[in-house]
Amino acid sequence: MLKHWRRWSTAVYAGTLWIGLGFWTATHRPAPTVDDWVVMYTLAGLLLLVRKFSIPITERDRLYFDTVYLVGFSLAYQDRLQVIVWGGLIYAVVSAFQAKRRPAAQLTAGTAFTYCAFVSAVVTQNCFAAQPLFSITQVLPIVLYGAVYFTLNVVLVTAYFVLDMGIKGLQEFRRVFSVQFVMVYAIEILIGLLLALVIHEAGLAGAILLTGLILLVSYSYRDYFKLAQHFKQLAIRDELTGLYNHRWIQSWIDSRIEASQPFSLLMVDIDRFKRYNEIFGHVQGDEALKLMANLLRETCLPGEEVARYSGEEFAIVLPGADVKQAEARAESLRKAVEQASFPGVHKLPGQRLTISVGVASYPDMADNKRDLLMMVDDALYKGKFTGRNKVSIYTSVLDELKRELATDEEREIIQTIKVFLAILNSKDRYTYAHTERDVRYAEALGRRLGLSESALRNLRFGAFLHDIGKVEIPLEVLTKRGPLTRDEWNIMKSHVEIGVRIVEQIPSLAPCLPIIRHHHERYDGTGYPDRLAGTEIPLEARILTIADSFDAMTTSRPYQQKRTLEEAFAELRSCAGKQFDPDLVEPFIEVVGEIGLLSEEAEQDPA
Ligand code: GH3
Ligand code: MG
Ligand code: MG
Repeated sequence: MLKHWRRWSTAVYAGTLWIGLGFWTATHRPAPTVDDWVVMYTLAGLLLLVRKFSIPITERDRLYFDTVYLVGFSLAYQDRLQVIVWGGLIYAVVSAFQAKRRPAAQLTAGTAFTYCAFVSAVVTQNCFAAQPLFSITQVLPIVLYGAVYFTLNVVLVTAYFVLDMGIKGLQEFRRVFSVQFVMVYAIEILIGLLLALVIHEAGLAGAILLTGLILLVSYSYRDYFKLAQHFKQLAIRDELTGLYNHRWIQSWIDSRIEASQPFSLLMVDIDRFKRYNEIFGHVQGDEALKLMANLLRETCLPGEEVARYSGEEFAIVLPGADVKQAEARAESLRKAVEQASFPGVHKLPGQRLTISVGVASYPDMADNKRDLLMMVDDALYKGKFTGRNKVSIYTSVLDELKRELATDEEREIIQTIKVFLAILNSKDRYTYAHTERDVRYAEALGRRLGLSESALRNLRFGAFLHDIGKVEIPLEVLTKRGPLTRDEWNIMKSHVEIGVRIVEQIPSLAPCLPIIRHHHERYDGTGYPDRLAGTEIPLEARILTIADSFDAMTTSRPYQQKRTLEEAFAELRSCAGKQFDPDLVEPFIEVVGEIGLLSEEAEQDPA
């Protein structure tokens, strides 16, 4: 109903403009001469001819020639404006009949341009009477003409937008209004001026000659523009999936951050996709990627964009979304993938294809692209290491730590530790993810034992930093498969003391040092570095030892078969009193029963 009303209102608007202008000219009409008829029909004919030859300037802005001709003719034939107006009105009506879609819009455009040319010419004539055309004194009148034309045009077109779309029309106008938009008007008016000059010097023959030139230029430029657009698409699209590519997402983020506009970023990685390829081959793998791309694209809301970030990773941007909204969106994407069917999935673990999603937000979490990408990647991997088929938001014990530290100097050292952690992460991704799980297991057990908030804080930070000394352990020792030699073992053991040396530099972390130093002590006194026994070992260190060992048992490493939950519990119990504090084993088993297994093996493996 509203739509019909709008369509009629725009038609009435266009008609009113037309009739108003027509009436004025009809009542101010001196007897037309043959010359007048020729000018009028030539103008209408040329307008209809060049209508289809607009030149694209940007993807949104085009240079239309109706303004050019109306400006040119109204300047060249100032003494018989009514002839020009009739030429414009004939054009408006004929082009509206020709228009396949929205004839009212075409009628409005043609009439509004005619209206603007007419009013600008009248205003100019009244302000600067009787000056010769195209002398130096004509500069001001021309500027006035251009300004009136532009302003009136903006008013008339905005009124049309508002009638057509309601209040959204104003937003639509704001969207198209840009520097390029003003530039295009300036170019149209300047070419109109050129046309007026040509007519002034060579009459209508000159106008026809210039039109030939315009048509040729438009024709060849359009081919060139299409080619440029084609290359642009090639540069920003991924060939396999048709989604935007890595380059596009990078520049999208750059421009968004440059304009300080908030958004959230989701990083999606298909779980266990290597296995899918191994089972079905890369050709079907590619087909599954295409299906996944389509599914993500279809699940996205208007405004959200998906890109293929790399092999089987997709990045999704959510303009204006904060982290909570982004999490909800990520969750619905995850569910959509979980419920979708992909060919052959019955042979996969869990009999479905799933995704893990990392979430980070600008500017709440990071104020630059590098940090944002690092965070979203970190969140994604946390999801991978804690079970897959998950949405994870970036959180870092390190950031919490940084907030709590007192001095600038301490915060600076944290920055260094961050770098160490990044190095450790690149050396050995396992240690890094493992640390995150240790923090959660240790904190859960600490809470169960009723530790105070400040003891929990020290436990959390100690657990987070306990392996930091591994940054100085050579890669071949750190990631060696098979047993270590005595020398290598000694090097490996030194990580606890190196860790203490690094963290010592932050005075407010002093309470964490015993945890770091003693997390490899054993309850029976055979551990390292100080061979402490029983309750000589600080409680927090005893807690961490259990958490740390349990996670190692339940995670597969290249050289070590993981244990099932039951096997791990049995192992803990059998080592109670030897490696572990016997009073902590049962509470820990209860805690794990409550929070569940955090490692990736929470997921079933295929038969
Ligand atoms: P995870 O759950 O840890 O993500 O395990 P994953 O096997 O998916 O590991 P990763 O994310 O490292 O995936 C990399 C694999 O994705 C390697 C390759 O088999 C597959 N892959 C990457 N790009 C393509 C591609 O263009 N086509 C196909 N068919 N497979 C690809
Ligand atoms: Mg991947
Ligand atoms: Mg993957």
